[in-house]
Parts: sequence; C-alpha cells; structure tokens
Amino acid sequence: MERCPRFAGRVALLLLLLDSMASKVLIVEDEQGVVHLLRARLEPEGFQVIAAYDGQAGLRAVTEARPDLLILDLTLPGLDGFEICRRIRQQPETARLPILVLSGRTEEVDKVVMLELGADDYVTKPFNTKELVARVKTLLRRVSTPALPRVLRVGTLEVDLDRYSVFVASQPISLTAKEFELLKVLLEAKERTLTRAFLLERVWEYGEELEIETRTVDVHIRSLRKKLGSEGTRILTVRNVGYRLDATSPHVNPGSQDEQAPALE
Ligand code: CA
Repeated sequence: MERCPRFAGRVALLLLLLDSMASKVLIVEDEQGVVHLLRARLEPEGFQVIAAYDGQAGLRAVTEARPDLLILDLTLPGLDGFEICRRIRQQPETARLPILVLSGRTEEVDKVVMLELGADDYVTKPFNTKELVARVKTLLRRVSTPALPRVLRVGTLEVDLDRYSVFVASQPISLTAKEFELLKVLLEAKERTLTRAFLLERVWEYGEELEIETRTVDVHIRSLRKKLGSEGTRILTVRNVGYRLDATSPHVNPGSQDEQAPALE
C-alpha cells in the first residue's frame, strides 16, 4: 500500500515531464537579461528555449523553428510586437500559436489592442518568473486540450473559427480580419439575407472609421468573392437589400454533409 503514493508520484512526474518536455518556447525580446532570466527558469522545467532579439528575426523564427509558444516583447528593434502578432494571426499555419506578451508597457490600451490582435495573455514587467512559467504551462495545456473545433463547411469551403483559417478545396485562403468576419457572419446566417447595415454593425465596430459607408461592405464582399474563387459565387447580392450566402446552389456537392472529407496531401 505504501507504494501507491510513490507510484502516483512517478506517474505525475512523468506526466509533468511529458507535458513540457516537447514544448519549444520562443522568446522574442531585445533585453538579453530578460531572455537569460526566462531561459534559466524554463529550461529546468523541460522546455526547449530559443530566442530572437529583434522583430524580423523573431518572425523568421516563428515560421522556421515552429515553436509551441511565443513570449513576445512589444518594444523591439525592427518590427514591433504588435506587428509580429498581427502577422502571426494572419497566417493560417501560425494563427493558433499561443502568444504571451511580456512588456514594460503597462497602459490598458496596449493590453486591449494586443488581446484584440489575438494575444492570449499579457504580463507586464517587472514580472514574477514563477508566475510567468505557470502562465506558460497553462497556455500550453489549453492548446493541447482544445475545445471542440468549430468548423463551418459549405461545399468545398471550410472555415475554422478557432484557427481563423479558410480553405477552398483544401487550399488555404488568406483573408483579412474583416473579410473573415464577414464570411463568418454570412455562413452563420444560414442563407438568411443580411442587410448592409446589419453587416456594417456586426463586422465593423462603431466609431472605428468615421467615413465608413455601406459601400465599404460592397468593396469587402467583392474582394471576398474573388479570394474564394469557385466558392465565391455563393455570396449572392440581394438587390437593394444586402447579401446572402447560398449553400445549395448547383456547384454544391449534395453528398457532402458535415463529415470530414479525407485530407488531401
Ligand atoms: Ca523591449
């Protein structure tokens, strides 16, 4: 009976090791001291730590080293953290990378902007290394046990709401944030016609750009249709009213329901 707690302890230790062993953390930070401090805390926990000291190198490391998590400073030489975050979220292959912002900028507005850009967590300097490591672990746990994926499919069009990725016939399509939101709203409307005013309200926030007009919707719809190629024709114009997404037009494969199509490599 004595052995049980020890055994459980070993299992817990093994799980802990497995939890962090394979995780690669990229630190993009121009203060060497901070990198050193983080490395000294993360490596003993089993994390593989890589670092980049300016924005360009950081962005390169994101695509080349494929980290599991990014610790991102905001004020950096070259590209700043805002731009790095924006670009990471725009690319389907990096859109889900967990980003923990570690910044000396304590203004609420910076936090809000970063969270809106898709950062997952925001820690201000000076920081407690123990707490930071705990937050890193929490973030990694969250992505390793993802909630049910929310994927909308119509024909060969596939929109992954969690990954912010869009595919047409298994090919990734790069959309801007507004185009993505527009497509999402149209899909969720399930063929209901949406007015331009409704779309403006849902996709564009009040006061964001004062000169926004309903024509803005048309411009984005045009661009969205073009990017979606063959599936773009599903977005129908309802004259003098707005738009709707046709899920049943002839080019839809009637056999395709919600089952996942075999992935084509
Ligand atoms: Ca800095």
